[in-house]
Amino acid sequence: MKQAQRLKAVRYDIRGPVLRRAIELEDAGNQIIKLNLGNPAPWGLATPDPIVADVVHNLKSAQGYSDARGIYSARVAVAQKYQLQGATTVQPEDVMLGNGVSELIVMSLQALLDTGDEVLVPSPDYPLWTGAVSLCGGRAVHYRCDESNGWQPDLEHLASRITANTRAMVIINPNNPTGAVYSRATLAGMLDIARRHGLLVFADEIYDKIVYDDAVHHTAASIAPDVPMISMGGLSKTHRAAGFRSGWLAVTGFGPQDTDYLEGLQLLANMRLCPNVPAQHAIQTALGGYQSIEPLVRPGGRLYDQREHAWQSLTAIPGVECFRPEGALYLFAKLDPEVHKIRDDERLIIDLLEAKHLLLSHGSGFNIDTPDHVRFVFLAPVDVLDEAINRFADFLSGYRQ
Ligand code: PLP
Repeated sequence: MKQAQRLKAVRYDIRGPVLRRAIELEDAGNQIIKLNLGNPAPWGLATPDPIVADVVHNLKSAQGYSDARGIYSARVAVAQKYQLQGATTVQPEDVMLGNGVSELIVMSLQALLDTGDEVLVPSPDYPLWTGAVSLCGGRAVHYRCDESNGWQPDLEHLASRITANTRAMVIINPNNPTGAVYSRATLAGMLDIARRHGLLVFADEIYDKIVYDDAVHHTAASIAPDVPMISMGGLSKTHRAAGFRSGWLAVTGFGPQDTDYLEGLQLLANMRLCPNVPAQHAIQTALGGYQSIEPLVRPGGRLYDQREHAWQSLTAIPGVECFRPEGALYLFAKLDPEVHKIRDDERLIIDLLEAKHLLLSHGSGFNIDTPDHVRFVFLAPVDVLDEAINRFADFLSGYRQ
């Protein structure tokens, strides 16, 4: 049986051939250190107890479908979250819940794009954005994020990528894979470009509470309340509940001329009936109470220490440079092309996996056009990170392509 032709243009390499090879090796009895997924729970970063208790408590009454947009109490909690972050107009009617941000990314693009429509997507990006644009018949047009400037988006390049077919701009902040947290000035500049060109903004802010040192996350909707925007977030990272599949979107800046799009989005929400109901109950508890991610990201907290340790050890390897992440869960390291001369980064990752039983992700899987980056997830405890980085250093020292 043949797959649909339109899938030929869709790429999602971070779960592609590399992961298949890792599964083969595991099935053959090998133990692999897997630093390839932003999935906190397997590393002992468990979902906070009150959230689990809430889901268990509500399980009996969560057996039927809910409203397609999600249960009211959770939508109120999401609206209040945005209000407190300065997006003061958000009401429960502006909120829609989904089975993770992933589902909402696909739905919100499906509702927008016709064949040939273009969407501005960062390079590097979280590759679901590029893949989902292609799935919907659109064209992802990548704008450069500048590694030499802390991976901040290059506004001139962004503006130069706009054509008559551009419909939307994706902002991922804090960023996966780079760890950048955008300054207020950068965000204001991006939103001004969107305003001037009548673009819909997708603000993927799933890491909004995972920021280190003096970095401040600015909610895009609070900076430009007049720009049509879909802000997205969820429980997967900040509340370590990736398996619950619990996410949301909030709509701001829409005028009467934009309601057609929202009706399309509602149609798609209706067609998938509703998101998983037990996991929706987690949202009010998660957002309302004590935010247990905060001590983890402060100095002395587990995520802070792991980031610091991994960054120091990785950048001590000859020919490896890396921006010190200001947010999120990733190190996006550059292998100096003069020293390492990598021509095929996916091959590098498969060779590393086979030789050292260490699974990382190749940079080109995040839509950059040079084969000289690798992504490390720093969710593992320090002793595992040490072992992994030692294996990586050892591998690189003898590796030639
Ligand atoms: N957006 C970004 C930037 C991500 O890194 C991820 C997951 O890694 C997602 C969205 C998807 O999250 P969810 O688990 O809510 O589907």
